[in-house]
Amino acid sequence: NGNLADLTLRLVAGAEDAPAIMAPGRQALSHGELRRLILNTAVRLNALGLGRNDRIAIVLSNGPEMAAAFIALAASASTAPLNPAYRADEFEFYLSDIEAKAILVAENEDGPAVAVAGRLGIGVLRLVAQPDAPAGRFAISGEPVGSPASPGLAEQDDIALLLHTSGTTSRPKLVPLSHANLAASAAHIGATLGLSANDRCLNIMPLFHIHGLIAAVLSSLAAGGGVFCTPGFNALRFFQWLNEAHPSWYTAVPTMHQAILLRAARNADGLAAAKLRFIRSCSASLPPQVMAELETTFGCPVIESYGMTEATHQMASNPLPPSKRKPGSVGIAAGPEIAIMALDGQLLPQGEVGEIVIRGPNVTLGYEKNQDANASAFAHGWFHTGDQGVLDGENYLRVTGRLKEIINRGGEKISPLEVDSVLMDHPAVAQVVTFAVPHERLGEEVAAAIVLREGQNANEADIRAFAMTRLADFKVPSKVIILEEIPKGATGKLQRIGLASKLGLD
Ligand code: ATP
Ligand code: MG
Repeated sequence: NGNLADLTLRLVAGAEDAPAIMAPGRQALSHGELRRLILNTAVRLNALGLGRNDRIAIVLSNGPEMAAAFIALAASASTAPLNPAYRADEFEFYLSDIEAKAILVAENEDGPAVAVAGRLGIGVLRLVAQPDAPAGRFAISGEPVGSPASPGLAEQDDIALLLHTSGTTSRPKLVPLSHANLAASAAHIGATLGLSANDRCLNIMPLFHIHGLIAAVLSSLAAGGGVFCTPGFNALRFFQWLNEAHPSWYTAVPTMHQAILLRAARNADGLAAAKLRFIRSCSASLPPQVMAELETTFGCPVIESYGMTEATHQMASNPLPPSKRKPGSVGIAAGPEIAIMALDGQLLPQGEVGEIVIRGPNVTLGYEKNQDANASAFAHGWFHTGDQGVLDGENYLRVTGRLKEIINRGGEKISPLEVDSVLMDHPAVAQVVTFAVPHERLGEEVAAAIVLREGQNANEADIRAFAMTRLADFKVPSKVIILEEIPKGATGKLQRIGLASKLGLD
């Protein structure tokens, strides 16, 4: 069956014995074994009444089985990875929204996902894994849930992956992504990063979001390389994993890079052993100061990329050396076409700020059950990212903010990213999030939450005085809150919207 061989080879392209999936203290699963696991899983799912475009929610903790289950299930059904930390109400919303026909949970799982699935009449499948077997190898136990909508292996336009957006700006939206979307995105990321069979990614990203699934897992396997799957981010264990896994790269969100840097001085051994070809940063803006510190600490280039769920992750990226990286820029279009659009739908020239719009083979065909969102998202023949940005004379893109996060202070529009970047220059500041707080007369007013560097002291007045030397008065935060830690969303992203109420400032 040519179709079958095609699909598995596109997902898992390595040599028979090349390591595909690895994990701490475990034997590696090879590309050949993973391909057989994909084919066996297709047969097993069909026997359980699941097939092409039937939706299976995956509720597993991070690790090699989660990575393998995603790849194997996506090849013959539609997968919807969910955050295992959700509570019953959240499972109720997500399982109904994705119209799951079954969920896949760990063998001994008896948490709220299972109870809610039972209540909703959704089949429960259990992943059975042996701790001494190669990392990621699994079998599925469970009762049949009916008959498959359509048996066999998936085709190009079938939905491989359903994910909700991070919910940074509003209620999460459901994004279906096809096999064609996934293949295009993995190829773009592989080309940007020069991934090959020699590469090994250390995955610390959650596997229920696009960044880890596509950049770390799928791009590695599609390039014939491997991925070392950890239980999730842990700044202490990160350095042990570097020692054990000998990765050639890792990818993370800026808050993780910052946590790693805070620990670096105390982990000289892990650092000495690290031979990274590059470090990748994506999903939120990387302060140039953090980029510089990472490059000095690890002695390798830091590649900042720009991604979103609706684009199957990557949209733009800085290139590898010898091409030029520009700190503060997310690089050049790396997959879809990118343009800047005015509110009236006109495309803008280089140097002008507007909405970032994209089109290309990795862009979703549209949100599910959300006509309103689709009508505005696909207006004027391009997909609207909701982000604001500008292209420079060399077509490097700078993301200047999210349209919804722009602070409107009595009509003056303030980019919170601009305020962030100024405050990051204060020597005592390790992390900053600028956000809007409600104001009776002005509508909104600027505030900033700050984490100080270890052993450093600064108070609200110091920070405001510093900001005053670099920013027009109206942009200077009226409030500076110094915190031990800034609240984050499930993907590790700092959330400006809603921060005021989380901190009791509304
Ligand atoms: P929601 O759409 O539900 O509000 P979200 O946009 O945070 O949530 P994701 O798809 O996970 O959900 O994130 C994509 C967004 O992350 C982009 O639209 C952009 O705003 C931001 N982003 C990603 N990479 C970068 C980057 N390198 N620099 C700045 N912003 C980035
Ligand atoms: Mg979004």
